[in-house]
Amino acid sequence: MPIRQLPPSVVNKIAAGEVIERPASVVKELVENSLDSGATRIDVAVEEGGVQLVRVVDNGCGIAADELLLAVASHATSKLTDADDLFRVRTLGFRGEALASIAEVSRTLLRSRPGEETGAMQLEVDAGRISPITPAAGPVGTTIEVRDLFFNTPVRRKFLRGTSTEMGHVSEAFTRLALAHPHVHFTLRHNTRMVHELPPSADLLDRISLFFGRELADDLIAVESHDQQVRLAGYVARPSQSRSHPRMQYLFLNGRFIRDRALGHALSEAFRGLLLGGRYGICFLRIDMPPELVDVNVHPTKLEVRFQDGGRLYSQLLGTLRNKFLSTDLTHRLTPVGPAEPVGLTESQLDAKRRELAEWARAQTTGWRQDSVGGAGEGTGDSADPTGDRLRHAPLTTVRLSQPLGAPAAPIGATSRGDQTSDDVDSAAAFADSNEVSPATSLLDADAGPVRALQMHNRYLIVESGEGMVVIDQHALHERILYEQLREKVLAGAVETQRLLVPEPIDLASNEAAVVLEARDALQQVGIEVEAFGGDTVLMHSYPAMLRRLRPAELLRSLAEPLLAGGRTPDRRDVIDELLHMMSCKAAVKAGDPLTPEEVEALVAQRHLAQDSHHCPHGRPTALVFTREELDRQFKRT
Ligand code: ADP
Ligand code: MG
Repeated sequence: MPIRQLPPSVVNKIAAGEVIERPASVVKELVENSLDSGATRIDVAVEEGGVQLVRVVDNGCGIAADELLLAVASHATSKLTDADDLFRVRTLGFRGEALASIAEVSRTLLRSRPGEETGAMQLEVDAGRISPITPAAGPVGTTIEVRDLFFNTPVRRKFLRGTSTEMGHVSEAFTRLALAHPHVHFTLRHNTRMVHELPPSADLLDRISLFFGRELADDLIAVESHDQQVRLAGYVARPSQSRSHPRMQYLFLNGRFIRDRALGHALSEAFRGLLLGGRYGICFLRIDMPPELVDVNVHPTKLEVRFQDGGRLYSQLLGTLRNKFLSTDLTHRLTPVGPAEPVGLTESQLDAKRRELAEWARAQTTGWRQDSVGGAGEGTGDSADPTGDRLRHAPLTTVRLSQPLGAPAAPIGATSRGDQTSDDVDSAAAFADSNEVSPATSLLDADAGPVRALQMHNRYLIVESGEGMVVIDQHALHERILYEQLREKVLAGAVETQRLLVPEPIDLASNEAAVVLEARDALQQVGIEVEAFGGDTVLMHSYPAMLRRLRPAELLRSLAEPLLAGGRTPDRRDVIDELLHMMSCKAAVKAGDPLTPEEVEALVAQRHLAQDSHHCPHGRPTALVFTREELDRQFKRT
């Protein structure tokens, strides 16, 4: 076949194949154009998941009448002038392909009015065929309507899914854009329903709260760091919040949502040891850097980028989060279940919330009186007699405090507040004062001196701390301490091992034998030396001294189990981490093990050794804190 120049319609269809996959892609491209136009308000409306219609209306700079045709021409853009510009892209778009591609595979209407004009002009493009430009009525800004996506490319149309699936994609695209630009007023409508109404906000937290709810927003910790040219800022969720997928890890580079394998890896490293296996942490992080330091022209939809110094960014991200986790008290705190605290509300809304809170507090008090065994509940509540007060409420102790103990997932206090900087949040925190926000001091105070501790039910240790009272899960804490000790030793290559005089042959199931032998190197690092002995038998030469209580066969089988459960071949570091978890779990005291007072004391005295003593390596909390203020309030002493 002779070589021919392709006609523009074919070029556009090819480009559309790359950039426009589904209605969500149309939403993304149109909203990005609106953001580039400087819009402060962007309204998105879709019908039937966007297959029938995607309409984006903005109040941006508009397109001049004599440029309307260029806007829908391919490789026409106002965002680049020469090739050098490609390496300092400050806009979301620059390829000049989106509108041409979209117009090629749909019925598109483009109406626009620049600020200085008195009326709008519009044009329609039907599968690439452009109609004459006509005057129209319309406000300043640009409206683009895209109907019947892929109506002229049946093969692509066939790949579209049902309305709800497509709407899910639209919603995700919208969420990413709106999170990346909180100062812009956004709305999203599906058919006749308003899905999202997002007033402009100075802070990302408000937006997160609107999209994902107060509960998550309350569990976020603000993070920030600067590295000469790179600023990292945003929020990361406490490890008590996690997902089975990494989709809640939002990274925004210079206002653009991105996916990046290396940074994703940095995130899992940061959460290592804080989450259960197979769980992913949640974060909303903005990375801002001079555009020269990143190439955004490596992916048609710019979902992936190439960093000039990826290694440095990796370390910055990992270091920032790791330090934050280590310096933050991740202990679960118990605060009363109250109405959600407002963030970014108006004064009158705040007033309403205050009333709601006061009512709630009254209801709580009434509840206590009814619960009260003593029945002396007629007290007016403003009695000045402290003794009487104490007597009156004494029977309530068990009612109020025993219940949350059994439910570690009970509401976790708003302790992250101290890290947040936005004015909106500050005002909410100030308001929340009545609802108690205690400073996030650590229970790991190494200088705290000797502590009084008591074992309860052979499983919990009750400890007096500077700020109140801590209830510790003995197994979880011990496991955590052993984990950290063991990790240090592995890093230093100094695990104490026990060599067997006569190597012990151990029969395993064939898949067990396979993973154990595959993980030989990692096992050696934790002090377990094994070799193949023919068939499914493995010969063990040594094992870690801390696990001498276990029989070698039992030890190897328990090690094989998590490795098998992992499915694919895990990387070496994962294997070692898995082994550390498993070994510390096996070696730790169990719930139900009675401890002597000396043992209790020794365990509690070592708690500062646990770098993160707030969660066991499985991610469960190790300790619950009852602050003194909290206790005082429960006993009505304040
Ligand atoms: P790109 O965004 O890569 O430049 P597009 O095909 O998306 O390419 O848009 C082509 C041009 O049309 C843009 O460069 C811009 O000048 C103009 N344009 C598109 N949408 C808008 C809008 N909502 N407001 C103002 N100008 C727009
Ligand atoms: Mg564009």
